[in-house]
Amino acid sequence: RLRIDEELKELQAKVDSWVPPAEITVFNELPLSARTLKGLKSSHFLNPTPIQQLAIPPALRGQDLLGSAKTGSGKTLAFLIPMLERLYLDKWGPMDGLGAVVISPTRELAVQTFNQLRDIGKYHNFSAGLVIGGKPLKEEQERLGRMNILIATPGRLLQHLDSTVGFESSGVKVLVLDEADRLLDLGFLPALRAIIGHFSSGTQLSNTKPNRQTLLFSATQTKDLASLAKLSLYQPEYINCNKAG
Ligand code: ADP
Ligand code: MG
Repeated sequence: RLRIDEELKELQAKVDSWVPPAEITVFNELPLSARTLKGLKSSHFLNPTPIQQLAIPPALRGQDLLGSAKTGSGKTLAFLIPMLERLYLDKWGPMDGLGAVVISPTRELAVQTFNQLRDIGKYHNFSAGLVIGGKPLKEEQERLGRMNILIATPGRLLQHLDSTVGFESSGVKVLVLDEADRLLDLGFLPALRAIIGHFSSGTQLSNTKPNRQTLLFSATQTKDLASLAKLSLYQPEYINCNKAG
């Protein structure tokens, strides 16, 4: 316990005072917990991709992000790593309930993200679950209360937010909207509006910094994406790896 407290204090100080080098070539150069670094190493991830190099540092500082990079560029780790670090630095534990939610457009993508999380997060003690339908709602409901991290499709998540008694969404520290262009293509904007409304309910004033960090990732940028960003992000950093040159 004491050792972990000291490690966390040290890590937080490192994150706070960290000045990113001009180029980050290995994950070890980022101010990450020993647990996450071990998870990355055991999954054979050594060198961050460009979107990971650019997105992880501001995300670790707690900033909202809009990250664009083409399919296959490694956007998943660009949000999973800062998400794990946020919960770890906040000493998130089994009793703290839901701390992070990732919204994916399809079941298949949700499962892929879940598997990557299990790989790189295996040295952490968080509980993680999938909310993608295909199983009786009641079965999912019973597991929800015990989860720290959920990977969800929008329709099913909204169903729970609307109907599952005791599903606490106001404490969520990190919300990820992944593959946002596909979320919009599939017509999920109204569901996302409703979901963001649930996560934002409470005493939040519209132009004060929310307690929640929101990370939005997309392969492409569209006009709809800008309106989703406006709806969900607070003073975001824009990271675009699709720019020519
Ligand atoms: P995107 O969401 O941008 O389409 P993914 O996050 O699904 O991309 O990653 C694409 C592939 O690249 C996956 O197989 C993933 O395991 C691999 N990958 C991601 N980051 C790295 C990395 N830093 N080093 C090596 N492979 C990586
Ligand atoms: Mg992806």
